[in-house]
Amino acid sequence: MGRTSVLVVEDDSTIQALITAVLALNFDVTAVSTGKAALEHALTGNFDLILLDVGLPDIDGFSVCRQIKSDPRGRETPVIFLTSRNSAQDEVNGLEAGGIDYIAKPINPAILRARVNNHAELKHSRDTLTRLARIDSLTGLPNRRTFDDVLEREWRRLARTNSPLSLIMFDVDHFKLYNDTYGHGGGDLCLRHIAESAVSALQRPADMIARYGGEEFAAILPDTEVAGAAAVAEAIREGIAVLKIEHETSQTAPCVTVSLGLVTSVPNLDRVPETLVSMADRALYAAKASGRNRVVISSES
Ligand code: GH3
Ligand code: MG
Ligand code: MG
Ligand code: MG
Repeated sequence: MGRTSVLVVEDDSTIQALITAVLALNFDVTAVSTGKAALEHALTGNFDLILLDVGLPDIDGFSVCRQIKSDPRGRETPVIFLTSRNSAQDEVNGLEAGGIDYIAKPINPAILRARVNNHAELKHSRDTLTRLARIDSLTGLPNRRTFDDVLEREWRRLARTNSPLSLIMFDVDHFKLYNDTYGHGGGDLCLRHIAESAVSALQRPADMIARYGGEEFAAILPDTEVAGAAAVAEAIREGIAVLKIEHETSQTAPCVTVSLGLVTSVPNLDRVPETLVSMADRALYAAKASGRNRVVISSES
């Protein structure tokens, strides 16, 4: 794991220097002295933890915390308040604003270090669990849950901008026979190679491929018209075919191939995105029925 990065927000330069000195041995510390600078830094998403003074010259710390917590880029970053206003009511206000803990001034270096260490470990564990919950462990691709989330988000976003979304579903041809011939371990390795190859066919940072289930994958291509998506689908098919992974029992080719279904549509909030998945699935079925190792573009939309 990389070093934990901590944002320290403190307007008193003596206290800021003390905190930085205490934490610098174990953490990457960035220190700022205003609420405005705190928000700018916090919302980069580059910090694991934020230590936030309540009494700041511009915006009070509780309000800074509420703003961080209401933004998706800052929501997951734990905020620890740091203040001499250590009344019970202040503590309640801090926790209600979304703070995870409260450290009273004057700063005791040992307590500061211990608490920040604890929160850094918790944050690290939570990040690991979040990542594991979203990634398929065999291929390293985003999993079905992540696919559903991204599709839902892109569906709404593209409905607002009236832009097309393309969806490609693809499935390995005769994969049951592959497992029967090369064993389940061989099948697993094959899925890894397929995943790696398919990812390399994507062209834009916003494109994503998920493992949809067993030996089925799905690609989401935002802002992509059918012609562009068809080119990507063909690149995925071709890229996997040229790997020439031997498949001696395949009835389609002497090597592993995939069949793909593609649909392009301008999202519309009167429909659910699952409609698009069904259309891509039907196109995929048509690709299987018409000989496999090919792309079929849905005529529905
Ligand atoms: P088709 O060309 O019509 O797609 O035929 P197919 O044999 O690929 O289709 P089917 O759905 O009958 O078989 C899918 C196979 O994929 C069966 C299942 O054991 C295998 N499979 C699913 N997930 C995994 C996995 O994680 N690892 C391995 N090794 N095999 C898997
Ligand atoms: Mg202050
Ligand atoms: Mg299959
Ligand atoms: Mg299948």
